[in-house]
This record gives sequence, structure tokens and C-alpha cells, in this order.
Amino acid sequence: MLTIKRLKEHSLRTALLQQGRALNYGELDTWSSAIAATLLTNGSLQSGTPIGLLAPASFEYFAGLLGIWKAGAMAVPLQPAHPLEELKHIVDDASMSLILTAPALQALGDQLTSPKTALWPIKSRQELDRTTTENIPVECHAGDGALMIYTSGTTGKPKGVVTTRAALEAQIESLLSAWQWSENDSTLNVLPLHHVHGVVVLACCALTAGARMEVVEKFQPELVWKRISTQAINVFMAVPTVYAKLVQHWQTQNPEVQKLWSEGAKRMRLMVSGSAALPVPLFESWKKISSQPLLERYGMTEMGIALSNPYAGVRKAGYVGKPLAGVEVRLADEGGVVLTNPNSAGELQVRGPIVFREYWRKPEATAESFTADGWFKTGDIAECDHDGDYKILGRNSQDIIKTGGYKVSALEIENVLLEHPVVKEVGVVGVADDTWGERVAAFMVCDKSITDDELTAFLQAKLARYKIPTVWRRVEALPRNAMGKVLKKKLVI
Ligand code: AMP
Repeated sequence: MLTIKRLKEHSLRTALLQQGRALNYGELDTWSSAIAATLLTNGSLQSGTPIGLLAPASFEYFAGLLGIWKAGAMAVPLQPAHPLEELKHIVDDASMSLILTAPALQALGDQLTSPKTALWPIKSRQELDRTTTENIPVECHAGDGALMIYTSGTTGKPKGVVTTRAALEAQIESLLSAWQWSENDSTLNVLPLHHVHGVVVLACCALTAGARMEVVEKFQPELVWKRISTQAINVFMAVPTVYAKLVQHWQTQNPEVQKLWSEGAKRMRLMVSGSAALPVPLFESWKKISSQPLLERYGMTEMGIALSNPYAGVRKAGYVGKPLAGVEVRLADEGGVVLTNPNSAGELQVRGPIVFREYWRKPEATAESFTADGWFKTGDIAECDHDGDYKILGRNSQDIIKTGGYKVSALEIENVLLEHPVVKEVGVVGVADDTWGERVAAFMVCDKSITDDELTAFLQAKLARYKIPTVWRRVEALPRNAMGKVLKKKLVI
């Protein structure tokens, strides 16, 4: 894989920065090789075997990720902030026999082990210093799974999206060229590393280009502004919510600081927004304070990035641009008829080497998500203008909510809330919100009184991913159709 092959080319350059410490590409290369060699000691690791990766945003995370790839296995990043139940679902669903764990998360890892699942610590570079790495590289095939990220859908629990080595490489290569990455770039990664945005779109591109990437566990507006204003970074990527918070933080500063920050932002090479719709007013307010027209792009766990505004050229606010090189995109109506007239709305379908292989062990769900002629059905409704630029109009299912860039399933939240003894009926929808894109709104029939705080605590204990402002509404009854289905369009705030 490209990311692995290129490590040697940049040996002496800084790859990662973490809390003031630096790790160069040569060190990352030898460390990850040593991890791969230990993974291969028993000689029984089949290529594409899922291996869990439980680590905070840190050197260990990347040494582990590259080690898994060098051993020919498939990395399954686990988000430490997720509740145990969610993590266990992934470990079980993937039939994970091994989880690589950073020392800081040993206690959490211990709770995920079972007779079927072992925990391996990600040893430090020093501890692995003398490991022989003769058993790598291993033979791998382009179609072997490299990365499996769990994503919410309209049915059931999150599914594992299997991206092959070839697809991952195609995703990275197309972005390196479209956004003109170089070894002189430096970035700060504030994105979650169990999501395609953080791990592929930003981290893998930076590491394949030989660029420098600082990693932090949490997004802090002050830190981002400092890195921007001191020109410590020249590339930044985030979800619209992050940009909204950066604008809010800028507004609380005195004019002198505002001027300094804005001047720094003006010198950035590239600022990208994605994973959720970038509202036009936010595009404009960001441009006003930073002189940067954000480059909005469209993608999905199932394919990395498919559409992008141009690196050089006009970036149209409210649009996600054109297909990247090698990616085919089309629109189809509900009956599957392909739409060719400009400005007709239809489901966006994608074909090309970037597209995932399958939902892990879910052949039916996989088959349903592709057309008979092999196009991936994104479930997003879009239109294309006369210039060939695409605009995302929304999802074709109301059961997918995008909040703070995270994709959450309304059905999953409904199921969790129904576990609460006082909740008798529930309907969950997304409601528009300036900062979050959408917030979760839960309409409930309850047979006893319950406070908003109690409901929030209950939901967060079960689904910590949804630490987002939730709007709670108690109702006498939910609007239903003759078949008893909740009429979500009637659930309005
Ligand atoms: P995920 O798999 O979590 O990355 O979520 C993918 C979904 O995010 C897509 O199917 C879209 O619904 C949404 N999405 C991603 N980028 C954009 C964008 N630029 N504008 C609107 N929606 C987006």
C-alpha cells in the first residue's frame, strides 16, 4: 500500500507531533514494522483478518494502524469514547480475535476481552527495538480488506464497511492529486480517528504525502486558532460544526487578536469542509474572517471522497463540486431511471475504484446498496447544474440524522429510548440547527413524568456518541398512518 511504501522516502522528516513530541517517518516505519512482525509471530494471520485498534489520537494509534497493514490484516478502529455496549457490538460483529491497545486504554480493553478476543498492548518503540522484521512484507492482494469502519444505517445496529487495500489506495491517490498535497504540508488533525474523515481523508493523505501532522484528542478552538495564526499548519480539515465553533470563538476575541488570527488564516494553503452540509451563511462568514473560501467536498464511509469543489478555481457555496478523477457519478429517480437533465433531483449513485467491497458479513445489505449494474446507491438526494456541479439536497431517508458531522440512526435512538421503562412510544427526527447542522428531536409518549436531564443521561449512557443537544418533546400520541407507521414529517418543532 502506498502509505506504507512511501514511509522510507521521508525517513528524516517529522511525521507526527503529539503534545510537543515528534516522531519522524523512519521511526514510524521501524516501529510499525516491529508491531507487524509481532502480529505475524504465530504465522497464522490470514490477510484481511479484522484486528481492533483501540488507541487515542496518538503515535501508538498510527504505529498500530500501519503495523496492522504491514501484517496484511484489516484495521478496525475503535472509538474509546463509545460506551462499552457499542464497542462490544463491534468486537462481536467483526468476530475480532485480537485488539491492539494503547497502554493508556488497557483497562477499557480488558473489558472487551473474552475467550475469543485477546488484547495485545501496543508496545513502545524502545520495547520493540530488537524485534526482527524478516517476516515482512507479507503477500497481500488488492481485494483484501484493509480498513473496516462501523457506520450507522437505516436499519439495525451499525454495520462494518470493508474497504479493500486497492480502494483505500485509490481514495488516497485521488485526493493527493486533487488537493495537491506535498511533503511541505503540515496539518492539525482534530477529527475522530474511527471515522473516514479523520483517518483516511486527512491522516492517510498527510502520511502518504510525507507531510507533518499534529494529533490531539479533542478539538479546542483556541489551539486551532493558535496553530493557524502562527503558521504552524497550512492545511486544515473539519466538519461544518467545527468551523461554526471557530467563528464563534473568533467573535469573542478583541480586535487585535481577531486581526492576527485572520491574517494567519489568510495564509493557509487549504481549508476543507465536509461530512455534512456546509450552510451558505457559514461559508460566507468563514470567508469574511479568514479570506478563505472553504473547499466543500462530499463523501461517505463507503467510498471516501467522490465529489469535490476545485482546488484551483471557483468554489461555489452550497455545492460539493464535480466527481474526482476516476469516479463516476449519476443521478437516478425512484424507479431507477437515470436522470440526464440538469437540475433534476435524484439519488446520487457512485461507481469506481474508491467504492467499498461490502458490509461485513451482510450480503443482503450489501446487495441492496448496489444497483444491478454495480453502482453504489448513496441514499443522498442531489441535483447537478449546467456546469456539472453537484448540490446535495438531503437524504432519501428521514431516519439518518447528521449531527456535528456524525451519522446517527434515528431508529437506533428510538430503540434505546424504548428500553426506558417510562417511555411507551417514540419517534426521532433531525431538526435544523445552525451549529450542529441537525439536532436530534425525540417525541415521546411517557406514562410517568421524567425530566430532560434524566433522559439525556439515559441516552448518553447507552450511546455516548450522541453527546449532542437533544430536544425532548412529550406528546399524548404520535401521528401514525393507517398501517401504524409513525408519520415523521408531522414531527415538527
Ligand atoms: P459518513 O459515512 O459518516 O461520512 O456520512 C456520509 C454522509 O454524510 C453522506 O451520505 C451525506 O449524507 C453526508 N455528507 C457528507 N458530506 C456532505 C456534504 N458536503 N454535504 C452534505 N452532506 C454530506
